[in-house]
Amino acid sequence: MTKKRENSIEINKTEFQKIGYQLIDTISDFFDEISEKPVTTTKSPKELQKILGNLSLPENGLPAEELISSTSKLLFDHSLFNGHPKFFGFITSSGAPIGVLADLLASSVNANVGGQILSPMATEIEKQTTRWLAEFIGVSPNYGGILVSGGNMANFTAFLAARTAKAPKSIKEEGLSNASNQLIAYCSKSTHTWIDKAAILFGHGANSIRWIPTDASNKMDNHILEQTIKDDLELGHQPFMVVGTAGDVSTGVIDDLETIANICKTYDLWFHIDGAYGIPAAVIPELKDLFIGIKEADSIALDPHKWLYSPLEAGCTLVKNPKHLIDTYSSHPEYYNFSLTEEGGSLNYFEYGLQNSRGFRALKVWLALQQIGSNGYAKLLREDIDLSKYFFELAEKHEELEPITQNLSITTLRYIPTSVEEKGEKKEAYLNTLNEALVDVLQKGGEMFLSNAIVQKKYCLRTCIVNFRTTKKDILSCIEIIVKEGRKMHIELLDKQQ
Ligand SMILES: *Cc1c(COP(=O)(O)O)cnc(C)c1O
Repeated sequence: MTKKRENSIEINKTEFQKIGYQLIDTISDFFDEISEKPVTTTKSPKELQKILGNLSLPENGLPAEELISSTSKLLFDHSLFNGHPKFFGFITSSGAPIGVLADLLASSVNANVGGQILSPMATEIEKQTTRWLAEFIGVSPNYGGILVSGGNMANFTAFLAARTAKAPKSIKEEGLSNASNQLIAYCSKSTHTWIDKAAILFGHGANSIRWIPTDASNKMDNHILEQTIKDDLELGHQPFMVVGTAGDVSTGVIDDLETIANICKTYDLWFHIDGAYGIPAAVIPELKDLFIGIKEADSIALDPHKWLYSPLEAGCTLVKNPKHLIDTYSSHPEYYNFSLTEEGGSLNYFEYGLQNSRGFRALKVWLALQQIGSNGYAKLLREDIDLSKYFFELAEKHEELEPITQNLSITTLRYIPTSVEEKGEKKEAYLNTLNEALVDVLQKGGEMFLSNAIVQKKYCLRTCIVNFRTTKKDILSCIEIIVKEGRKMHIELLDKQQ
């Protein structure tokens, strides 16, 4: 055996085993007991700072065993647990346990999946993952793509590819200032805020986004979409992309993608689908009709860390013709001797997206896809949807609850006290105040967790079930918690008024 270098960062084999086994024991207990824990800490940031301690940067090191053990305690005692069966906030899923192990494995290999030569097997696994994700949602496996940090990055990655494909060829050299016509993107007014950031980030400016009104069911109004495109053409602008949403963030509605695809064909526009939340539901055979048109998409953003239950972070951009990613992101500095991506050449993910050095986030997605398969996923997603419908039904039956919307796995509802003195608009204003305050106490209370949505000016409680731990019993108990807290809040507000 050669003598190893003495250094303080290495952990020797027996110590690594000891610390590792202890950590795995702690994590196993955590998963086992998660439903008995509060959903979130009830401590304020001030109190948490106190617990953390106001230590200065250590000059000398501390033992790894001690650090790992005290830090597990710190986190498992004072976190919000989106893996808790009563967590339904935003669109944040329970993380699959296999993903936890995958991340440990991935960081042990520490593959840099920016260049193939640095990540020979990891690159192949990522490529297979994107192909499987394409198959999963039912588009051609010839779509190619890249894993990114989340939905925002997945959409940004596609936005720039769309622009490179549709803007004048000189755009990469000359930038926007030389594009004589203003490049315009279209999306429904329910589109997630990523598009604002994209418009700013890529220099288009927020005024280059046309927020198309939605119809009564909250889908993009495709008549107005087409008219707006025509108007812009007449004004001499250059429409370049339309974003359809597959599962809007507030209510889970899927745009009429087929019609959008046809409009894009007619006007030669890039058709992008933001499927960050909802597109995995395309795997459910009886829901296929909702997704007609996805096969036409030039690009699709999806988000394995949402409804594929991958631990954070994992997003994915899929592009019908992956050459558009290369056209957009590939350049060849002299300090990289990687051969170019050609048939038989090497596949370097730094040429597919914005990142250079990249982690191996594909591994957790790839493993979960194999652990449960597409049938397993279809079953889990269907169950989440059924639980969401159950939430809606229970709200319907309860005289102090008003169900508002139910799509995919999102239900919105309001608490309505049995007697409200105000009438008409004043009553609506009171209910908005009451429900807003109710979301706040529910989020801080630690018994359950939901978020909010505003639907037709109504302030709603919103539950999004992307949670493989939730059961019917949890939903029943959450209905009771909402009503209990709703009653308390109503009394509190009445007291304040007097
Ligand atoms: C969540 C979401 C995003 C943003 O995704 P992140 O993973 O949070 O970056 C974008 N679009 C839609 C429709 C979403 O649901």
